[in-house]
Formats: sequence, C-alpha cells, structure tokens
Amino acid sequence: MEHDTHSHDLHPDAGLARRGLMFILSSPSGAGKTTIARKMLQHETNLRLSVSCTTRAPRPGEVDGKDYHFISQDQFDRMVENEEFLEWAHVFGKSYGTPKAEVKAGIRAGHDYLFDIDWQGTQQLHQKMEVDVVRVFLLPPSIDELRRRLTGRGTDSAEVIADRMARAQSEISHWDGYDYVVVNEDIDECFGKVRQILAAERLRRARQTGLIGFVRELMVP
Ligand code: 5GP
Repeated sequence: MEHDTHSHDLHPDAGLARRGLMFILSSPSGAGKTTIARKMLQHETNLRLSVSCTTRAPRPGEVDGKDYHFISQDQFDRMVENEEFLEWAHVFGKSYGTPKAEVKAGIRAGHDYLFDIDWQGTQQLHQKMEVDVVRVFLLPPSIDELRRRLTGRGTDSAEVIADRMARAQSEISHWDGYDYVVVNEDIDECFGKVRQILAAERLRRARQTGLIGFVRELMVP
C-alpha cells in the first residue's frame, strides 16, 4: 500500500486536526433532554460529558464523578472564589457549575463536550467562548404532552405538578437564547436531528485547525 506522505496533517481518530466544540443541550424538564444526552454520549465517538459540580443531593442511581461532582456549599464557594468554574448559577435553590480545567484542555486537544446546563450557564459560556459554543434547545411538542410527562406516575399532588409546570414554562421562555431549537415529538427523530447539528458544526471551517496545512499541500503543483 502506498503511504500518504501528508498523513501527519490528520488527527489520529477524527480526520483533520480540529478544535473541539462545546455542545450545549438545554430544555425545560419534561422535554426529554436526559434521554437525548444519554443517547448522544452512547452513540457519538469523541463526545464527552462535561461533569458539573452541584450542591444538591444525589438522586437514586446517580454516581458521584459520573453524573455530577456532588460537593458542599463551602467547597462550591471556594471554587467560585478561586475562579475554577467556566460558569456557575443558582438553579431551583441549589448551586451548579462547570469546572474549567478539563474542558479547556480537552477542547484544545480536539475533543467535543456535551453540556447539560440551564439558560444562565449557556449565556455565560456563550459570552466567554462564543466561537466554541453550539447552543441547542429542546421543546416539548405541546403543553398537554408536557403536563403528561411532568405528571409522572400519578403520585404527585396537584401543587407539585403545578410547580413543575410553572418552572418548565419559565425555562421555555429562554428559547430565543439558542442557535438551534428542536421540538421533541418523537425521541428517535429528535435524536437524529441533534446528531445532524453536531455533525454539521464539526465541519465548520474555523474548527478545522488542520485545514490550512492540508489545503496548502493540495495546492502544491
Ligand atoms: P438537575 O438537578 O435536575 O440535575 O438539574 C437542574 C438544572 O440544572 C437542569 O436544567 C440542568 O441542565 C442544570 N444544570 C446542571 N448542571 C449545571 C451547570 O453546571 N451549570 C448550570 N448553569 N446549570 C446546570
């Protein structure tokens, strides 16, 4: 087999050398974000979850270091003071933040990161790292479907459900702070669309840092 003399321009597993991107997935609860995020991480190579820190307690099944870094308010405040977060926010009375170190180094090395964060974090990341950020918002197909999804197993009181609906509606009001909006009517269809967004964004010229050298070689007579 003939050797490609220009193969040094190619990233070992992802074609041309490129800068990673920050793929933000936000939605009101009940729009299927957790399912879509899980499927993306399962099926997409070179996509890692940015694991946030939070002061809320773990839910059953959640693993420290995998779903979140579960930390105390003191630890959180110290990290804020030491500027260890890329962004942080109060969400429903608890603190949430994106640790800086891993993501910054990972992006430079060409890895993509998935962020499951709210609109406040999205705004902050966009202000700080606009060219690296892709903002995707998921919407439920209808108010009735949202209510159905938030009603759960039918064991919650009317007040609890009304509270969830009010929260969801306040989250929906931030839909216009995003680059892409996908209505999640059917989970597989929605997943397909979100994958297409990632695929297209990966091909943006500005992210393909290996292009200059590659194209130069193509233009040698
Ligand atoms: P939950 O407690 O249900 O896991 O998350 C509550 C909300 O906080 C969700 O909307 C989730 O996207 C958001 N969230 C999780 N991690 C972060 C983070 O690091 N920063 C921000 N700004 N929001 C986050």
